[in-house]
Amino acid sequence: MIKEIYFTLQGEGFHTGRPAIFIRFSGCNLWTGLEKDREKAICFWCDTDFVGTTGPNGGKYSSKQIADILLNLWPTSKVEKPYIVCTGGEPLLQIDQLFITTIKNIGFEIGLETNGTILAPEGFDWICVSPKANSKLKLKKGNELKFIYPQKNLNPKDHEFLDFDHFFIQPLDDKYQSQNVLMAKEFIKMNPSWKLSIQTHKVLGIP
Ligand code: SF4
Repeated sequence: MIKEIYFTLQGEGFHTGRPAIFIRFSGCNLWTGLEKDREKAICFWCDTDFVGTTGPNGGKYSSKQIADILLNLWPTSKVEKPYIVCTGGEPLLQIDQLFITTIKNIGFEIGLETNGTILAPEGFDWICVSPKANSKLKLKKGNELKFIYPQKNLNPKDHEFLDFDHFFIQPLDDKYQSQNVLMAKEFIKMNPSWKLSIQTHKVLGIP
């Protein structure tokens, strides 16, 4: 089940600024997405709407149908490294090997944004894991570890020896955001193998 599929520019992390089609999968294992359940959620600060199929191009599709949507949405026929980002919600609740193979067969690179609580099938070209406090991290290997900071009961330092190529700190976007930015800066100053990830799409208003 897909909440939405749309063309945009990746707003955060290593691929900031890269053109991409985002596929937002419905559902997550760390929150129902319903306001009435927010206090029980692991990510009580989540600001993503991943419920149902009501976004642009939302629906229930086969892998082949999704491939057709992607080919229609990619803006040029000159296909130079077309890229999709599988996000959510938690996309690994739904993605299987057939999906990955189908997407790669039409020439797309396929990226993943996940909370890391579920192991990933083989074949992703880029894996970004964003660990969440009070959940069990299972996916300990990938390209990019993006740590939303700060999180009570979760320390970035406990993650820096995991098998990732890049380590990002991204200030938590809540009512204390300006304070969170200062804390992130201070953390990176003391731990320079980490870099800052900014949610540029929010700053610039890119949908
Ligand atoms: S894992 Fe991501 S999508 Fe799911 S509740 Fe947490 S922040 Fe939201």
